[in-house]
Amino acid sequence: MATMFPCPSCGGQLKFSPDRMQMLCSSCGQYTDPRAYKGNEIENEAGINTTIYTCPNCAGEIQVIDNDGMEFCPYCGTQTTMQEHFSKSGVPKYILPFNLTKKEAREKYLEEVKNIHFVPDGLNIDDNIDKLVGLYTPYYLYDYSSDGDVSFVGKKTSTSGDYEVTKETQFNVRVDVDDMKVPFDASQTFDDNVSGSINPFPLNELEKFNPNFLAGFFVENSTVDKEIYVEDALEEAKNSLCNKVKAKADGYDLTSREDERIHNDVASKLQYKGCEGAYLPVYFMTTRNYDRVSYSVINGASGAVYSDMPIDKRKMYATAIAASIVIFLVLFVLSLTFSFTYRIKNLCGFAALVSSFIAYYGAKIADGVYRRDNHLDDKGYFKSKDVVTSNNIKPIKKKAKKKITKSSTKAALSGAGAVVLFLLLKGGYAFIIAGILYVLENGRAVANVLNVILMLAMYITSLVFIVKGFNAVKKGQKTVLMLGTFGWIAAILIRIINLPNDIIYYIALAIVFAIIVFTIDCTVREYNRLATRPSPQFMKKGGKLENAKG
Ligand SMILES: [Zn+2]
Ligand SMILES: [Zn+2]
Repeated sequence: MATMFPCPSCGGQLKFSPDRMQMLCSSCGQYTDPRAYKGNEIENEAGINTTIYTCPNCAGEIQVIDNDGMEFCPYCGTQTTMQEHFSKSGVPKYILPFNLTKKEAREKYLEEVKNIHFVPDGLNIDDNIDKLVGLYTPYYLYDYSSDGDVSFVGKKTSTSGDYEVTKETQFNVRVDVDDMKVPFDASQTFDDNVSGSINPFPLNELEKFNPNFLAGFFVENSTVDKEIYVEDALEEAKNSLCNKVKAKADGYDLTSREDERIHNDVASKLQYKGCEGAYLPVYFMTTRNYDRVSYSVINGASGAVYSDMPIDKRKMYATAIAASIVIFLVLFVLSLTFSFTYRIKNLCGFAALVSSFIAYYGAKIADGVYRRDNHLDDKGYFKSKDVVTSNNIKPIKKKAKKKITKSSTKAALSGAGAVVLFLLLKGGYAFIIAGILYVLENGRAVANVLNVILMLAMYITSLVFIVKGFNAVKKGQKTVLMLGTFGWIAAILIRIINLPNDIIYYIALAIVFAIIVFTIDCTVREYNRLATRPSPQFMKKGGKLENAKG
């Protein structure tokens, strides 16, 4: 296509360059100010002229004003010839230009995955990172203002000698906010959980929309209706303003009644001024693995990174086996040096605990996979007008509240859960701890008491995990839960039944541990499903951002 942004001095192609926030000519190297440049009449009353590429595989659409075309689909990761047609498109009111170059985005990404264990090879090789595309993503900015004072009483208690002194202070906080913008992604591709994790964008650097900023970048072309986030945006505006008010009373305690008063007061002062569309800058990378994809996104202004990260099983097992051999040798040498033997029956308790934990963790992951694959936490997916699948999903209304619980469960899951899973998978720091405890219990009376307590605690904890697992799984896959429970029951049975000799105990336990290894394998498979997504299928066409033109 003929260049839409000809260079004023040589006629070459201009592209927006984030390192200087200027348009750079690819032929003569001259910089041009995008705010002043008027090279081509591509924008008029009806919007701008764009080229739209449609993926033959997933029907995802991407807009390009001036670029070298597309050889792969950024949504589903397929290497394909994108179908091209010309179109006119509505424009949003604002744009936040990229200020991270592709190279910088790549470095941020590599820095992020450097510390993750067992990264599959595909995710950190150059070929794949080259698929990183700069994508302007449609967002809705819900605009609020407020005016006036919020007053409340804060208490501070201190001790002076024998007395307790309570000091009450009256606070008056001005809530003079002119222009508070709450962003929500308007994109159908972008799962709300993903977009949430690369917030915030520096919205104070927003520019009035100008197509010159788009030169050399792609624009995501699938949007949802702006009504769907109105309630969430209000909630977020309220919370944000309340937190600002309460921050003024740092060091003072607020009674729940004062807290509620602040909330009501702030709510009554907030005024909704409407919703505007904006393009916000995101670097986007899709990795395809059979029928699933994983997304990595980088905030093109702040550099915040989010990445779906499956585990490479081969790497994990290699590490686990190496670590297990080391631990086994250490324990073996210890038992020779101090001449003691391990109590087989204690190993049953340990096996029960491990089985039950994996059962529970597997259940949590399975539930997460189910929720993600059915888009239960992504409002934008369903509220897009033209999504016409056979969705047997509950009404949207209920989801507004659930979203918050989900993100905290998810945080807990990916935080504590992932840490424990990794410790477990990485080859058993748990084994080391158990080993030390067995060494400790060698022959002494005190240690025997400790041992009984420890064993009881192990069995009780394992029971709790099993119960919680059955609670958590809901509609997800139950394989891991069932296998874990099976291993747990087997371990307990071995503990209860009196087997004739040690050899048979060892064989029985070896079987239980084999079940555990198999269960871990299934857990990783399930975890990898959670860390990836079903390949997208778009059922709608055309952008709706012009709706937000205001
Ligand atoms: Zn030039
Ligand atoms: Zn595609």
